[in-house]
Amino acid sequence: MFYFDNFYGKKILKSSLLSDYDCFFTTRDFVLTASNRKDLEETADENRKLLKDRLNVQVIVSAKQVHGDNIETVKADKAFYDNTDALISDIPNTLMLLNYADCVPIILYSKKDNTGSIVHAGWRGTASEILYKTVLKLKNEFNINPKNVTALIGPSIGKCCFETHEDVFHQLINNIDDSDLYVKKYNKYFIDLKKLNYNQLIKSGIENIDTCSYCTCCMSDIFFSYRKENGITARHSAVVKIREDNVCQ
Ligand SMILES: [Zn+2]
Repeated sequence: MFYFDNFYGKKILKSSLLSDYDCFFTTRDFVLTASNRKDLEETADENRKLLKDRLNVQVIVSAKQVHGDNIETVKADKAFYDNTDALISDIPNTLMLLNYADCVPIILYSKKDNTGSIVHAGWRGTASEILYKTVLKLKNEFNINPKNVTALIGPSIGKCCFETHEDVFHQLINNIDDSDLYVKKYNKYFIDLKKLNYNQLIKSGIENIDTCSYCTCCMSDIFFSYRKENGITARHSAVVKIREDNVCQ
């Protein structure tokens, strides 16, 4: 279950599945990335300082997101990754952050292995199955059993608002009988990106999943929406900090 919480006076969105972890989604109230909203740059800088100070870390690890399917394992001496849409870390006290305005944010965390990941899946990332590939990497390179992974699918544009043309539809929907994945109205398709990513989690063997029902486009008073704001928008973020102490050992 998702619920709004308070991070030192700033509104954030958490899940009861990871309530004891520093894993959450930010809102307009806690902007960490101004993007092309130059007027929010100073606020974002102040908020990043607050985040680092309160979580007691020196750096925020992040990436240049390009809607691709490159997944990086965070190295201790590198804080920024080019051409990257998913980050994984098992290094205690590592703080990772990726940014969104309508795309689907996914947080993965194995409490048993004290390893976390953040994924950015817009329609291109969803079509290239970056989420499924990230779980495969956790399995193959970190020896993590998907049954031990908790997954949070955060706020993103919903089926109510994600209207696409036929070309995008065909890249996302393999079987037109999958009527729970989309709605067709006249010649437009309304696609459920969260459900597509949920299905990738199920295919990868993850069972412990919380999906946020919020649509960023319908709720652009709380989240940033690229579509609603015609591209002139800042970003909300997904934040994961790897715990210092592994409580599950
Ligand atoms: Zn909507």
